[in-house]
Amino acid sequence: MKVVVATHNAHKVAELQRILGAALPGLELLPYDGPAPVEDADSFAGNALIKARAAAAHTGLPAIADDSGVSVDALAGAPGVDSAHYSGERDDAANLRLVLTKLVDEPNRAAQFTCAAALVDPVGTDPLDVDESGAAFEHVELGIWPGTIAHEPAGGGGFGYDPIFIPEGYSITSAELTADEKNAISHRGRAFAALARVLAERYGAA
Ligand code: IMP
Repeated sequence: MKVVVATHNAHKVAELQRILGAALPGLELLPYDGPAPVEDADSFAGNALIKARAAAAHTGLPAIADDSGVSVDALAGAPGVDSAHYSGERDDAANLRLVLTKLVDEPNRAAQFTCAAALVDPVGTDPLDVDESGAAFEHVELGIWPGTIAHEPAGGGGFGYDPIFIPEGYSITSAELTADEKNAISHRGRAFAALARVLAERYGAA
């Protein structure tokens, strides 16, 4: 069973192979090397679908993709889908500094990470999935990880906003968790655990 992962990040392919391979042992994840689509949806689910559709259309294979970010209550959900370049640049340190600056003197520190994990099958293995127009099978799972924004960065692990995100139930940031601890409870871990169940149901546990 071959599924394309709509990312150029080899590390992400390996991480997903671990999560999804456990639910579907015959699964072979392939990196996607086609053109990158414009991610201009206003939701995580919309952007994940744009990426998965592009990879499925280019390869003719089922494709999975994710889109994620952090949403801060006191900033009306920002950075949200703009998380990767909130400061105007793809710069993790500048992005998290901007969040901290905007939250100076803000008592409401509530925030959440969201990950949308999308599956697009361009053909559909079940004839019932495909209508007369030949529409593809599409499915999105959302993983939510609630927490709060710290007053200053801490921890050297993770990436992005991890040094300022304190997961609910913890007093340390997600940058202070090990990779395995984080994957077990994170938005991405949750979304792909749910998508693994969909893959296993759809393509059959080997
Ligand atoms: P992507 O679109 O899923 O690659 O991620 C968008 C951005 O969201 C990243 O560049 C990070 O800034 C942020 N982000 C997503 N997931 C995480 C996480 O697990 N920890 C920290 N930041 C994250």
